Amino acid sequence: MPKYQAPVRDIRFLLYDVLAIGSYSNLPGFAEAPQDVIDAILDSGSKFASEVLQPTNAVGDRQGCKRNPDGSVTTPEGFKEAYRQMSEDGWMGISADPEYGGQGLPRVVSMPFLEMCSSANMAFSMYPGLTRGAAEAIQTGGSDEQKRAYLPNMVSGKWAGTMNLTEPQCGTDLGLIRTRAVPQPDGTYRITGQKIWISGGEQDLSENIIQLVLARIEGAPEGIKGISLFIVPKFLVNTDGSLGARNSFQCGGLEEKMGIHGNATCVMNYEGATGYLVGEPHKGMRTMFVMMNEARLGVGMQGLAQAEVAYQNAADFARERLQGRSITGAKSPDKPADPIIVHPDVRRMLMDMKVFIEGARAFAYWTALQGDLLRVSPDQRVREKAEDRMSLLTPVIKGFLTERGFRAASDALQLHGGAGYTREQGIEQFVRDARIALIYEGTNGIQALDLVGRKLAANGGRAVFGFFSDLEELVSLNEGREDMKPFVVGVQTSAEKLKEATMWLMQNGMSNFDNAGASSHDYLQLFGLTALSLMWARMARAALDKSDSGDAFYADKLVTARYFFDRVLPDVTSHLAKVKTGAAPVMALNAEAF
Ligand SMILES: Cc1cc2nc3c(=O)[nH]c(=O)nc-3n(C[C@H](O)[C@H](O)[C@H](O)COP(=O)(O)OP(=O)(O)OC[C@H]3O[C@@H](n4cnc5c(N)ncnc54)[C@H](O)[C@@H]3O)c2cc1C
Repeated sequence: MPKYQAPVRDIRFLLYDVLAIGSYSNLPGFAEAPQDVIDAILDSGSKFASEVLQPTNAVGDRQGCKRNPDGSVTTPEGFKEAYRQMSEDGWMGISADPEYGGQGLPRVVSMPFLEMCSSANMAFSMYPGLTRGAAEAIQTGGSDEQKRAYLPNMVSGKWAGTMNLTEPQCGTDLGLIRTRAVPQPDGTYRITGQKIWISGGEQDLSENIIQLVLARIEGAPEGIKGISLFIVPKFLVNTDGSLGARNSFQCGGLEEKMGIHGNATCVMNYEGATGYLVGEPHKGMRTMFVMMNEARLGVGMQGLAQAEVAYQNAADFARERLQGRSITGAKSPDKPADPIIVHPDVRRMLMDMKVFIEGARAFAYWTALQGDLLRVSPDQRVREKAEDRMSLLTPVIKGFLTERGFRAASDALQLHGGAGYTREQGIEQFVRDARIALIYEGTNGIQALDLVGRKLAANGGRAVFGFFSDLEELVSLNEGREDMKPFVVGVQTSAEKLKEATMWLMQNGMSNFDNAGASSHDYLQLFGLTALSLMWARMARAALDKSDSGDAFYADKLVTARYFFDRVLPDVTSHLAKVKTGAAPVMALNAEAF
């Protein structure tokens, strides 16, 4: 059976040595999170993840969720108890607003717990994850009355939240939504329609489920400009806060799917259900985007988290499995064969996984820190920069971390040989679970289009030029240091390639949109690699500054950093070459030729 041990040492290094979160202690939230508090959170969070959640992962995969004849859904064994403990221990609201019962800690402090839970049981962690996103959307777009009515119970975990966008005819193109909302004299709406693939649409973990539903009010404009957002609770909430009548919708079925079996993927049938408008009519996408952006960062984290757990098990396997002899002479002559970790090709897979995971973790946590600065910094310039970074990097986090995370999980399977492909070892579950992250929350193709189509051009390119400045700053701060040379040169090289690709897109993407579409995937990969080069250079600097400590952790970090720059970063060259071919080779064939 697979195991999971939270990578607490690496997380501490990131939070304290690289991101130096202690330096923000003058800001709200950070003041409540000194190092001893964070250490305690990491310790108890890692215990919860490995001792409570991880044992439910394989069980959840095997049992899956069951829909009962009355439309209720039973989650796998152990999920209810884990959910109860997670709520009782206050984990649900760790970063939520104290006004609604949250602890108000910075996101960057709650990130490790989210990562640990996702590694320990991705399917389970989606229930609280979506609840957090739904609560965030209500907090941003809801009325004071709605916030008071729903947020305290969502923050505590007593109630859960979901997002209902997808319909049979409408996935990526939300302008095709058909679910109808009919205004009632009392100010509520009657919601009718079918939503599909709704994660956690029905479950037996929480007392109530707050569905956030996109629908079209009668007479609304066609397309995306006519979409409104509604709160549709499973049980209506009385004015005194108690639960009232069961609302008129049901889970009509559960999807059978490749992975995340412990998460109920529901067909939801709304039959004149009572809904409450959030914000203004026809402006629902604005608020829904709060939830979608939150979820995109969470999904990026899923890619990293599945890679981490798969990698840990691969590393153990590589140390234990005996096959063949080292090509430079036996390393364990007392045994019938050497452990496979002696073979360079096995090492290559482990190193590829390791540099992705540690770089991606730095990237995800740094982006979370930008979210905190955006919320709490009193300095308008800091907030603007943080917002630019968040907005620009969200599609990169989602697209790059899920794609490479899946690849890492697949490498972990490969490293196991046949034991990876067969079920007993439990590795193939990580690959199956990780695969969905490339699809939901906007497919990775759509993330790449968002990056080249919207994010680059926003505010005259302010965000991307700001990112170039981040890269230049790293170079100028470290240029004089001989020990930083290989890392500085790597950042310079990737920055040049990213700038060249960006200029090419600016010149050729507008004149022919297919050029932008055809280049978008490689541009996003190039962007992700460049962001990781920045992260690895910062980690190398932090490790060099601690190298006198004699702690092997820092020496290992530097070896790992070198591997990234020597063996992974060179891919930027091929991505740039592909960006610059533009649309012609992609679009040349007639549709019938495929
Ligand atoms: C397990 C699971 C859980 C889910 N959970 C939820 C949930 O909780 N709530 C919810 O609302 N939805 C949920 N979804 C739906 C998910 O978000 C959609 O599957 C996703 O947005 C893609 O839509 P689609 O599947 O209809 O693909 P389509 O939109 O049909 O796309 C098919 C392919 O075409 C590409 N494509 C489409 N349009 C374009 C374009 N304009 N340019 C370039 N390429 C394009 C896509 O990238 C994709 O590769 C879930 C799905 C699954 C499988």
